[in-house]
Amino acid sequence: QEKDYQMMLRTRSPGGFIPPELYLTLDRLSNEYGNHTLRTTTRQGFQIHGILKKNLKTVISSIVKSMGSTLGACGDLNRNVMAPPAPYKNRPDYIYAWDYADRIADLLTPQTGAYYEIWLDGEKVISAEEAPEVKAARQRNGNGTIFHEGEEPIYGTQYMPRKFKCCVTVPGDNSVDLYTQDVCLVVMTNEQGELEGFNVYAGGGLGRTHNKEETFARQADEIGYVAKEDIYDFMKAIVATQRDYGDRVNRRHARMKYLIHDWGVDKFRSRVEKYFGRPIEPFKPLPAWQYEDYLGWHEQGDGKLFLGLSIDNGRVKDEGDFKLKTALHAIVQQFNLPMRLTPNHNLILYEIDPGFKDTIQAIFDQYGVVTDPQKIPTLTRYAMACPALPTCGLAITESERAIPGILDRIQGVLNQVGLGEEKIVIRMTGCPNGCARPYMAELGFVGSAPESYQIWLGGTPHQTKLARPYIDRLPIRDLEIFLEPLFVYFKQERQTGESFGEFCDRVGFDALRQFAAQYQES
Ligand code: SF4
Repeated sequence: QEKDYQMMLRTRSPGGFIPPELYLTLDRLSNEYGNHTLRTTTRQGFQIHGILKKNLKTVISSIVKSMGSTLGACGDLNRNVMAPPAPYKNRPDYIYAWDYADRIADLLTPQTGAYYEIWLDGEKVISAEEAPEVKAARQRNGNGTIFHEGEEPIYGTQYMPRKFKCCVTVPGDNSVDLYTQDVCLVVMTNEQGELEGFNVYAGGGLGRTHNKEETFARQADEIGYVAKEDIYDFMKAIVATQRDYGDRVNRRHARMKYLIHDWGVDKFRSRVEKYFGRPIEPFKPLPAWQYEDYLGWHEQGDGKLFLGLSIDNGRVKDEGDFKLKTALHAIVQQFNLPMRLTPNHNLILYEIDPGFKDTIQAIFDQYGVVTDPQKIPTLTRYAMACPALPTCGLAITESERAIPGILDRIQGVLNQVGLGEEKIVIRMTGCPNGCARPYMAELGFVGSAPESYQIWLGGTPHQTKLARPYIDRLPIRDLEIFLEPLFVYFKQERQTGESFGEFCDRVGFDALRQFAAQYQES
């Protein structure tokens, strides 16, 4: 008899869009076949954990029939395409970002019928209409050289050397962690708000391996600007470059970030131009990037409201008097509301008629769910953790289950040194794969041995600069001893408006170590 293998399933949800019928289906499936919880991911999808292998077909076919999909949420191909989750209806740039997140996702969706044969007995359920120009662009044979005949014109028979991650955002909105993506498109509009083209970043990626210097986290570079009518051909060109030149021998060296690192940006750009068939224009100026979490009640710009909810560690669950899962099910069912998952594993309910606000608020109050962002502890609000133990097979340490206690302990040290109100972006993962993007945090924890973490410092509050490893193995029992001198030094020497991460980066790690050593001796 076959063992009861347990599986994790992840949705493909471009821009984090979850229609109400899909949410209700996921909620039911997690109760019937999963571990009774849902997990919002850091790439704007939902995960269900604990599905027995024998139930996978039922679960996947139910998702596809509810306007969802899992196709391409894992594997060596384009993953879920991210976009800013704020559902502003009076901002054309945001509307373009969601639209193009969908279009790029469609362009790079595998065309194989195997998915439908295996999970739906061959019944091809179309969950959303694909734009005809996307289909035409996928089939267009570029310069007559690089794209394949047959079922998979872009991926060919071999797919990509490794996973491939994209996002589309608007100038100034870094809710998508753009520097961590293989490709980021930035919507560029004219003064009338009409789409003209896209600024392009490429070569970001965070996964690495401890003690393997040849693997590293990397921040994306500015590549150039592409007119809107050329964007599909450009995306095909960049995918084809990585498909054909990415390392297929060593998986640890297979992400596109290594190709760009090894070649340099100029060679990479000119190789993409060969596939693209025309020059890439110079990158256009952009305003500074800001991280936004959109928590709390807001107007969405067309008379309706949206509500951003902080989800502790992304876990949608019922526990004691806290009944987030029950509350969301009741509200989505009663008011038929769509949601957008955020890249910080929170969620946004939108299309809310102002007349329903009080009833919805009362339901959250009844089930113990805090909706006022001012009542969420600051460290918790900006923290992220990956699932790690017990559901991830790669985990070296705890993450999701440990971070609440660790944040409490960090808050204790901050209070003790007189920095109780400080905002610090803290992220934790159970292994160096980096699913919760700890390498962009101001204070990053990366599981490196049982009960021990590698510590990363020097990221910024808006995730615009890569952090650096400060210490390889901090036993978590020593957390307070480790942090106190750093916080004292920060309090004494910070410049006006400087954050903890910016401070660590400015003074440098040698100065931090020197101060910490003197502090411990005194
Ligand atoms: Fe698993 Fe590592 Fe990703 Fe955490 S970072 S979920 S431990 S693979």
